[in-house]
Amino acid sequence: MKKTITTLILILIVFNINAQKRKEFFKSPKGVFYISSDLHIHSVFSDGSVWPTIRVDEAIRDSIDLISLTEHLEYQSHISDIPHTNRNRSFQIAGGYVQKKPLAVVHGTEITKPMPPGHFNAIFIKDANKFFDKNKEPLIFIKGIKEANNQRAFVFWNHPMWEANRSDGIAKLDPIHKEVIDKKLLHGIEVVNFDTFSEEAMQIALDNELTMMGTSDVHVLIDWDFNKKEESFHRPITFIMSKNRTIKSIKDALFNGDTFIWYRDLIIGKSNNLKQVIENNFKVVSKGFGFKGRKVEILQVELINKSVAPISLNYIGEYTFHNDYKFIELEPKSSKTIYIKTKKVKETVSLEFEILNYVIAPKTNLKIVKTITID
Ligand SMILES: [Zn+2]
Ligand SMILES: [Zn+2]
Repeated sequence: MKKTITTLILILIVFNINAQKRKEFFKSPKGVFYISSDLHIHSVFSDGSVWPTIRVDEAIRDSIDLISLTEHLEYQSHISDIPHTNRNRSFQIAGGYVQKKPLAVVHGTEITKPMPPGHFNAIFIKDANKFFDKNKEPLIFIKGIKEANNQRAFVFWNHPMWEANRSDGIAKLDPIHKEVIDKKLLHGIEVVNFDTFSEEAMQIALDNELTMMGTSDVHVLIDWDFNKKEESFHRPITFIMSKNRTIKSIKDALFNGDTFIWYRDLIIGKSNNLKQVIENNFKVVSKGFGFKGRKVEILQVELINKSVAPISLNYIGEYTFHNDYKFIELEPKSSKTIYIKTKKVKETVSLEFEILNYVIAPKTNLKIVKTITID
C-alpha cells in the first residue's frame, strides 16, 4: 500500500512540472532541460524549524523545479512534540500538498553518522522506515548505504568540508569513503553546502567520477539564510541537465554527472557541462567594421549574457580593444558593446576568453573561443 502511494505521487509530480512554465535561469539547448533543484532540505520532522508545506511554497517562490526533504534518520530535535514513527511522513505531507503546484518532490533522507563517514543524502528512496532494524535502531552506516542502493537511490556525501567534521575545512577521503566509492554505493558529493564551497571536494568529484552537488541544507526560513536584498545571495541551486522533465530522466542525468551549480556569482561544474551552459548563454554578435560613423579597421561587437548569473570575462587573445581592457563584466541578462582593433577588415574573427566565474576544477576557469562571422 505504501508503495502504491509513493508511485502515485511521483506520477502526479511529473505531470505537474510538465504543465507549468518555470522561470528560466539559463538557456538550454534544444532537447535539454536544466532542472533547478535543491536536494538537501530539513523540516520539523528532523531538526528544521518549519512544516514541510512551507518548504514547498518557498521552492515555488524561488522557481525551483525539484526538492527533496532529507530529514535526518538519526536526529529528530522535535521528537517530544512530534513523536512520529513513520519516517515517510515529511515526504507524504509535502507530496500531498504539492499536487497541482509547479514543483516535484522526491523522497529522500539524510544518513547522519559521526565523522568518519559523516552525513549522506539518499534521494529517490521508496521507504525511509526501512533504514531501521527490527529494534527500531538506525542501520549502521554501510547497511544504510546498501539499503539506499537497494531502493535505487542516488546517494551523495554531504558537506565534506564542514568545519565541525574537518577542523581545517579541507574535504578529504577516509578509507570508508574510498570503500563506498569503490563499491559504487556513492554517486555524488556536495561541493557547495549552504554558504561553503570546497575546491577540494570538487577535486574528489573529478578524481572519482562523483556528481557535483550544491544545496542549501536549509533549517530555518530560506529567506533568513539567503537574504533576497542582496541580488547575488540566492540559495545554491544544482541544475540537472536532463533530456526531459520526467523523474526517470532527471535521475539518469544525476547518475551521469550532468549537473552544474549556481552558487553566489559562481557557476561550478565539469568542463563539458559548463561549456554547454556558456555556449547557450553567452552570445557574440558582429555589428560590422566602423567606429563613430568612420569606416575603420575596428570591429564593433555585441556581447550578450542571457543568463541570471554574471559572466566575468578575461580576454586572453592578441587583439586590443578601443574602449576596454581585457577584463569585461557582463551583468545578468545584459549586453555590452566592445570595439576590437583587428588591424585589417576580416570575414571572421576569433575571440578567446577565460570565464573567471565559471569554475571547472580547483583554481581553474573555463576557457572558450567565440568565432564571429562578419557579413
Ligand atoms: Zn548534515
Ligand atoms: Zn542536512
